[in-house]
Amino acid sequence: MQTKERARKPAISPQRKEDYAGWYQSVVAGADLAEMAHVRGCMVIKPWGYGIWSQIQTHLDRMIRDTGHENAYFPLFIPVSYLQKEADHVKGFAKEMAVVTHHRLEERDGKLVPAAPLTEPLVVRPTSETIIGESMHQWVKSYRDLPMLLNQWANVVRWEMRPRVFLRTTEFLWQEGHTAHATSEEAFEETVKMHRVYQTFAEQWCAIPVIPGEKPPSERFPGAERSFTIEAMMQDGKALQAGTSHFLGQNFARAADISFSDRDDTISHAWTTSWGLSTRMIGAIVMTHGDDDGLRVPPRISPEHLVIVPLERDGPDPAVTAFCEELAQRVQGKRFGPGVEVRVRIDARLHRSVDKKWQWIRRGAPLLVEVGPREVATRSLPVRLRSNVDEVRAIDVDALVENIGDLLDEIHNAYYAEADARLDAGLRRDITDWESFEAFFANDGPGFVVAPWCGWEECERRAADLAVTVRCIPFERGGDPGVCVICGERQGDSVIFGRSY
Ligand SMILES: [Zn+2]
Repeated sequence: MQTKERARKPAISPQRKEDYAGWYQSVVAGADLAEMAHVRGCMVIKPWGYGIWSQIQTHLDRMIRDTGHENAYFPLFIPVSYLQKEADHVKGFAKEMAVVTHHRLEERDGKLVPAAPLTEPLVVRPTSETIIGESMHQWVKSYRDLPMLLNQWANVVRWEMRPRVFLRTTEFLWQEGHTAHATSEEAFEETVKMHRVYQTFAEQWCAIPVIPGEKPPSERFPGAERSFTIEAMMQDGKALQAGTSHFLGQNFARAADISFSDRDDTISHAWTTSWGLSTRMIGAIVMTHGDDDGLRVPPRISPEHLVIVPLERDGPDPAVTAFCEELAQRVQGKRFGPGVEVRVRIDARLHRSVDKKWQWIRRGAPLLVEVGPREVATRSLPVRLRSNVDEVRAIDVDALVENIGDLLDEIHNAYYAEADARLDAGLRRDITDWESFEAFFANDGPGFVVAPWCGWEECERRAADLAVTVRCIPFERGGDPGVCVICGERQGDSVIFGRSY
């Protein structure tokens, strides 16, 4: 008897278990998401990758506006003097700054050279607290002007020495929320609220379960009093910080003099927050849902939901074309999940249909159907769910039209359940002393350790020697307080330890 082998080779090489980093690059390339650009450290986001980002923007933007924020846009260039006003902030970002020192180019000996030095250099924004603070200084006068709830969709630049597409690039895209409030309590409430918005977005839209928690002091945003994060576990057991929300206290308000006259005419500094989610999320999606055949896009943020590939051996077949168009029309605009409209693409490009099929599998479109004369005659369609790519379900046209939302929800739920089970399995709660801690992390990226930490920097440094950091003090999936896993002496709260991207 012959055992049944997988009948085909995976569409991506290398596979995850062979070379995880190589697999990641191959999926990004094979799914047509992005390329590292001809400009060092920067990426070219291709239409399919940008289509995913557009979906992230659309849905997250609605959540941001539903929580009372308005979009605005601030300058790309920040005078160095603005940054200098907040010492911790400038210290945190100094090494990553791109600085514009000249304007105008002149030709000298056949070469273009920067000609006119600026009196004050400009930094290309690494984040916008300081420049938005300058505007808030002008806009906020009285308690009546508060709260001020702003959001910006923009690109930012942080000079990367070791760039990796979507995970660390010199330029990336994000949204950054910036708010000012009259009281500490209100600003803190805002910080927590947006932290929860990110959690909801990651879990309900991207099908990525996360651990919400607070960053230890060493991992805080430069200039923040408290930083909150959502940490996701990638398939190699490493952590990826997928969104952060910061309570800035009055640090930035003092630096930029954002002050207001209160009801009793006293002048006080405002309390500010900032929070951001970036194109890194696409890296998280790849490393959470991708498989050895490529990407699997969570349906709620997929640029297309149903891809129809016409099977036309000898040029266009009018009956097949008409059938595909009718199917697309009937399905388009149906709704699933929390009200997402179904989008359909008929891929009528001239490439061979088998190549088109595999391209959509690598790209991770949720539903794929090939339609030829036989399908037109029988009105039964071979529907491929990307959640299980080797299974083809025969579904009657009318049933597909009727149930397409259920199929997409089924895929979303399957992705979430798979990632959730992996996260739970990757949380080790049985590691209680330094020896087992060290042994556990001696293997490359095996998961997270949930264990008490005394909070001392000295213990944090010992973990750092293993390239392990305190990812967060978790609000969910945590453990009990107890004796520090590192020093075995002092008591502390339970935290999440892990290696990270
Ligand atoms: Zn300790």
